[in-house]
Amino acid sequence: MKIRLNSNQQVVDTVKAGLEKTGGYCPCRRERTEEFKCMCKEFREQIKDPDFEGYCHCMLYYKEK
Ligand code: SF4
Repeated sequence: MKIRLNSNQQVVDTVKAGLEKTGGYCPCRRERTEEFKCMCKEFREQIKDPDFEGYCHCMLYYKEK
């Protein structure tokens, strides 16, 4: 299992700029709760799931099996 950044640097820069603006909350969501602090709960659960391979919701990270 490996977590890596999206290989598209433009996506990484855009999402990181969004995270800076929100103070670390997921820039792709409106809620500003603990659940949506990067890495958000959804992605942490996807990391734990041995069958999941793919991007987080914002496409900042990619999980390889
Ligand atoms: S892990 Fe991805 S989807 Fe989750 S908060 Fe961070 S950038 Fe957004």
